[in-house]
Amino acid sequence: MKVIAIILGIPVVPYTMEEAVTKLIEDVLKKKRSFVVTANAEIIMMAQDDPEYKIILSQTADLILPDGAGTVWAGNYLGYVIPERVAGYDLYLRLLEEAADNDIPVYFFGGKPGIAEEAAEEGRRRWPGLKVVGCRNGYFSAEEEPEIIDGINRSGAAMLFAALGAPKQEKWLAKYKEKLKPCLLMGIGGSFDVLAGKVQRAPKWMQDARLEWFFRLIKQPSRFGRMLALPKFVFAVRREKGMKK
Ligand code: UDP
Repeated sequence: MKVIAIILGIPVVPYTMEEAVTKLIEDVLKKKRSFVVTANAEIIMMAQDDPEYKIILSQTADLILPDGAGTVWAGNYLGYVIPERVAGYDLYLRLLEEAADNDIPVYFFGGKPGIAEEAAEEGRRRWPGLKVVGCRNGYFSAEEEPEIIDGINRSGAAMLFAALGAPKQEKWLAKYKEKLKPCLLMGIGGSFDVLAGKVQRAPKWMQDARLEWFFRLIKQPSRFGRMLALPKFVFAVRREKGMKK
């Protein structure tokens, strides 16, 4: 059993990428349900100011994984062992690869109109055999939700990727967890935009140098306000360690 890292009240399981992929695919093949969240520092900070989100992450979700250099740093700084980050986009790609190999049908929900379809096309190109059994954009009214759930359930998908951005995607998945038939539920932020080639990901050297946040800031300066969560996160984690002593 892994020692779960409690970071500002959020229980992060320190799986490596390959451990996470193995566990999640095994669960899907056994038809065991799992609601997965890849928690970066921004998500953990959002939960500090939003009690509903904090309950979803700490109680409703089945598995919280360490996304981003900030979460890995925080866990290790607090005395736990977190070997590596499990970035949401990388996990999403690995799960698609395994879905293609194991004949597991998947559903793409979210993004602007047409983007999920473009991501599906690129997915099929990369992993021939990938079964994307349905797509739906992420812009909808409350009245349309029953129809969306019905569409997902009727598609026969076993994995549902919801790309509505955090915290909207986790709140939506938590609200409808019992009604949704896919075994695996996972929020993936802007991943369809990246797979569809609309948004660039930081080059590998920048990711390795833990500078992915900097790349995003240059590409999307409007994220500046959101990124102030990072220094606040470092401050809060240092304070938590001080209180534990
Ligand atoms: N989005 C959506 N519905 C909404 C709001 C956003 O489908 O009501 C999509 C948006 O098109 C984008 C993604 O959610 O593809 C959010 O991307 P971002 O990189 O901001 O994700 P985050 O960093 O919040 O996880």
